[in-house]
Amino acid sequence: MPITKQDILEQLERITDLEPDQINRLAWCDGAVQVTIEVIGDNAQQQRMRQKVKTAIEALGPEVRQIAIEVATPHGQESAPGSNQPKAADGNPLPNVRQIVAVGAGKGGVGKSTIAVNLAVGLSRQGATVGLLDGDIYGPSIPTMLGINHLEVQSRDDRFLPFEAHGIKTISMGCLVEDDKPLIWRGPMAHGAFRQLATQTNWGPLDFLVIDLPPGTGDVPLTMSQLLPLTGAVIVCTPQKVAQDDAIRALAMFRQLGVQVLGVVENMSYFVGNDLVEYDIFGRGGAQFMAEKQSVPFLGDIPINMRLRQNCDAGNPTANFEGQDPLATALPALVEHFQTQVQANQGQAKPTISVH
Ligand code: ADP
Repeated sequence: MPITKQDILEQLERITDLEPDQINRLAWCDGAVQVTIEVIGDNAQQQRMRQKVKTAIEALGPEVRQIAIEVATPHGQESAPGSNQPKAADGNPLPNVRQIVAVGAGKGGVGKSTIAVNLAVGLSRQGATVGLLDGDIYGPSIPTMLGINHLEVQSRDDRFLPFEAHGIKTISMGCLVEDDKPLIWRGPMAHGAFRQLATQTNWGPLDFLVIDLPPGTGDVPLTMSQLLPLTGAVIVCTPQKVAQDDAIRALAMFRQLGVQVLGVVENMSYFVGNDLVEYDIFGRGGAQFMAEKQSVPFLGDIPINMRLRQNCDAGNPTANFEGQDPLATALPALVEHFQTQVQANQGQAKPTISVH
């Protein structure tokens, strides 16, 4: 039987780290195949994928006499300087979302997800319509923090229906996979996973979409910055010098991706004991100092607080805003400063991108 275009597609589908949406164009005529694939990554990664595609097509036998493979960088990455934000605005996949804000950190364990959750809940308590996208596809903790880890994602018309909890809408990879399975994503798969969560969720109109990023400077922030027209990013940092060093790297990454840094949050800043004495455990003011040095706004400090940890584990962030302790004061203040920063950012020229 002569080879058909479908046969070629099936061959390509066997390449485990090539998602169907990475195949941009496929033409088959008279023994000649022309295919365009999208690959995030450096030259070496692109060449590896090119070779895999070639091998997969060659396996169809001698009827294939000519193979032309074009490797494109997703979403016009190649036309980098100055192009990121306008491109996203042109083809904005989330036109009903007014402000998209990423929460990032240079390293894990500094309270990035905690701040993302509380920022989202705090904005909602001020009357905003808020979505929270768990973009930490490697270690999703939002389901636990919102108490939805036992629920299954429902979909309608090929789109995920977000969960509604604590006044916000949310979606997470953690609700789509089994708890004990490792989440191993190669670059292009991470790209596909993030893209699907972000754009195939039926968010409805939102004032804010808060995105909890994975820690560090990997694939997801890159995909995000190319896919979505971001208002800006918040960086979470603990006061210690080592945490500052990593936060500076995250800051540099956002700048390189053309994402406005809305400000730095100093988490685990201090601890207030039962004796009402403030204990400076990690070096209070370190992240604030770093923010000033880097010329980015400081959004506030959040104390080390047992209620915060307990409420996060119990999936009850609303309770963080209730009570009389420093936490109940610090969280609304953070939300307030964040809002001020977003407003200040409106109308400012977007920075240009320099991805290579
Ligand atoms: P990350 O997202 O940076 O990896 P998480 O937000 O998951 O960090 O926080 C790690 C742990 O630290 C969680 O158990 C969380 O409840 C706890 N935690 C975060 N911030 C605080 C804080 N200010 N006080 C007490 N516990 C906190």
